[in-house]
Amino acid sequence: MNLYTVCRSCKKSNSIKSDAITRPDLQMEIGSEFTFNCNKCGNIEKVHVNDVSAEPNKKHILIGLILGVVSALILYFFYGAVGILSGVIPLLFWQVEMKSIKSFNSYMIRRK
Ligand SMILES: [Zn+2]
Repeated sequence: MNLYTVCRSCKKSNSIKSDAITRPDLQMEIGSEFTFNCNKCGNIEKVHVNDVSAEPNKKHILIGLILGVVSALILYFFYGAVGILSGVIPLLFWQVEMKSIKSFNSYMIRRK
Protein backbone atom coordinates (compact mmCIF):
# COMPACT_ATOMS: atom_id res chain seq x y z
CA MET A 1 0.00 0.00 0.00
CA ASN A 2 0.97 3.64 -0.44
CA LEU A 3 0.84 6.33 2.18
CA TYR A 4 -0.12 9.84 1.23
CA THR A 5 -1.15 13.14 2.71
CA VAL A 6 -3.11 15.97 1.12
CA CYS A 7 -1.40 19.36 0.94
CA ARG A 8 -3.49 21.99 2.71
CA SER A 9 -2.31 24.66 0.32
CA CYS A 10 -2.92 23.12 -3.12
CA LYS A 11 -5.13 20.15 -2.10
CA LYS A 12 -2.98 17.71 -4.08
CA SER A 13 -2.02 14.37 -2.60
CA ASN A 14 1.64 13.66 -1.99
CA SER A 15 2.99 10.20 -1.32
CA ILE A 16 4.91 9.59 1.88
CA LYS A 17 7.96 7.41 1.63
CA SER A 18 7.58 4.88 4.41
CA ASP A 19 7.26 1.13 4.82
CA ALA A 20 5.05 1.50 7.89
CA ILE A 21 2.02 -0.81 7.78
CA THR A 22 0.10 0.69 10.69
CA ARG A 23 -0.32 4.24 11.94
CA PRO A 24 1.57 3.58 15.21
CA ASP A 25 4.45 2.20 13.09
CA LEU A 26 4.45 5.40 11.09
CA GLN A 27 4.39 7.44 14.29
CA MET A 28 7.41 5.50 15.57
CA GLU A 29 9.19 6.18 12.32
CA ILE A 30 8.50 9.86 11.71
CA GLY A 31 6.97 11.10 14.98
CA SER A 32 3.46 12.38 15.78
CA GLU A 33 4.03 15.46 13.68
CA PHE A 34 6.44 15.83 10.83
CA THR A 35 7.51 18.55 8.49
CA PHE A 36 6.04 17.96 5.10
CA ASN A 37 7.29 19.60 1.96
CA CYS A 38 4.71 19.53 -0.83
CA ASN A 39 6.37 18.53 -4.08
CA LYS A 40 3.54 20.06 -6.11
CA CYS A 41 3.52 23.64 -4.79
CA GLY A 42 6.55 23.72 -2.46
CA ASN A 43 4.47 24.50 0.63
CA ILE A 44 6.09 23.44 3.89
CA GLU A 45 3.82 22.59 6.80
CA LYS A 46 3.53 20.45 9.89
CA VAL A 47 1.44 17.34 9.30
CA HIS A 48 0.04 15.05 11.98
CA VAL A 49 0.25 11.27 11.42
CA ASN A 50 -3.56 11.20 11.53
CA ASP A 51 -3.57 13.24 8.33
CA VAL A 52 -1.75 10.45 6.52
CA SER A 53 -3.97 7.97 4.64
CA ALA A 54 -3.29 4.68 2.96
CA GLU A 55 -4.31 3.68 -0.55
CA PRO A 56 -3.72 0.55 -2.64
CA ASN A 57 -0.37 0.28 -4.34
CA LYS A 58 -1.32 -0.26 -7.99
CA LYS A 59 2.10 -1.60 -8.88
CA HIS A 60 1.87 -4.37 -6.25
CA ILE A 61 -1.62 -5.32 -7.39
CA LEU A 62 -0.52 -5.41 -11.02
CA ILE A 63 2.47 -7.62 -10.19
CA GLY A 64 0.23 -9.92 -8.15
CA LEU A 65 -2.24 -10.11 -11.01
CA ILE A 66 0.45 -10.95 -13.59
CA LEU A 67 2.02 -13.58 -11.30
CA GLY A 68 -1.42 -15.06 -10.66
CA VAL A 69 -2.27 -15.32 -14.36
CA VAL A 70 1.15 -16.73 -15.27
CA SER A 71 1.11 -19.31 -12.49
CA ALA A 72 -2.50 -20.26 -13.33
CA LEU A 73 -1.50 -20.86 -16.96
CA ILE A 74 1.58 -22.89 -16.02
CA LEU A 75 -0.30 -24.97 -13.45
CA TYR A 76 -3.16 -25.44 -15.89
CA PHE A 77 -0.66 -26.93 -18.31
CA PHE A 78 0.48 -29.49 -15.71
CA TYR A 79 -2.59 -30.10 -13.58
CA GLY A 80 -5.49 -29.00 -15.75
CA ALA A 81 -8.46 -27.20 -14.24
CA VAL A 82 -7.05 -27.40 -10.69
CA GLY A 83 -4.24 -25.09 -11.80
CA ILE A 84 -6.75 -22.37 -12.57
CA LEU A 85 -7.41 -22.16 -8.84
CA SER A 86 -4.02 -20.48 -8.37
CA GLY A 87 -5.60 -17.54 -10.18
CA VAL A 88 -7.23 -16.65 -6.85
CA ILE A 89 -3.79 -15.81 -5.39
CA PRO A 90 -3.95 -12.17 -6.58
CA LEU A 91 -7.40 -11.91 -5.01
CA LEU A 92 -5.91 -13.00 -1.69
CA PHE A 93 -3.16 -10.40 -2.06
CA TRP A 94 -5.79 -7.81 -2.84
CA GLN A 95 -7.78 -8.85 0.22
CA VAL A 96 -4.74 -8.58 2.51
CA GLU A 97 -3.86 -5.22 0.98
CA MET A 98 -7.37 -3.84 1.45
CA LYS A 99 -7.48 -5.14 5.00
CA SER A 100 -4.25 -3.39 6.00
CA ILE A 101 -5.39 -0.18 4.28
CA LYS A 102 -8.67 -0.28 6.15
CA SER A 103 -6.97 -0.86 9.50
CA PHE A 104 -4.43 1.89 8.79
CA ASN A 105 -7.12 4.41 7.89
CA SER A 106 -9.43 3.53 10.75
CA TYR A 107 -6.80 3.62 13.50
CA MET A 108 -6.15 7.13 14.76
CA ILE A 109 -3.43 8.27 17.13
CA ARG A 110 -4.73 10.24 20.07
CA ARG A 111 -3.82 13.90 19.56
CA LYS A 112 -2.25 15.68 22.51
ZN1 LIG B 1 0.92 21.78 -2.21
